[in-house]
Amino acid sequence: MKAVIIKTRPGSYEKDGWSDDKKLVFHYSFKARNGKVNFQEKANDVLIKQPQHLYSILLFMESKEGWHYEGDFSVSEIEAKFVALSRKGSSLEDTAHDQNEVVYQEGERSYVTHLMAERSKAVVSAAKDARSWICEICSMDFYDKYGVKYIEAHHKTPIFTYSEKYKIKSQDLALLCPNCHKAIHIYMKNSGLEYDEIITILASTG
Ligand SMILES: [Zn+2]
Ligand SMILES: [Zn+2]
Repeated sequence: MKAVIIKTRPGSYEKDGWSDDKKLVFHYSFKARNGKVNFQEKANDVLIKQPQHLYSILLFMESKEGWHYEGDFSVSEIEAKFVALSRKGSSLEDTAHDQNEVVYQEGERSYVTHLMAERSKAVVSAAKDARSWICEICSMDFYDKYGVKYIEAHHKTPIFTYSEKYKIKSQDLALLCPNCHKAIHIYMKNSGLEYDEIITILASTG
């Protein structure tokens, strides 16, 4: 897939609209039937998968004159009811993809929840502000090794233990280097083990 075209009509979804005056971020609602969002539905699925596949999202908006092209966007945040679309090339879009490493869980719902947890800006930055940027598994200091500051946040709490309403806390996140983060996700996918069980295995192999 090269691009997804989305069209929005003012007033059709409550959450739809620009979140800033410069039109850098547009909130776009997931399609819902009777107020229920089905994440497997194609229209929603392509939005959820965009951070992984990085195809363009071309936004069109209806006006009196007809359909107006607003530009090329990327998904920068996934909320329960909508996604935040950031204009490509803006600084917001750059930060949107520094955590695009995601592996599917059992169902789409878990996948979305996990993504939401790891990309919840407030929680992730709280965790990053409070701790040193050293990988919790291998103790690698990205800055020491590569001269740039970088770390990823991994959500430790097993997904099935919380509901949509659950508030993610910064203690729920582990700060990991990209390699260890990837390894954790591969173990999660292949074995269904939880974070604590996986680090025990990794400690014995490393
Ligand atoms: Zn590591
Ligand atoms: Zn993770």
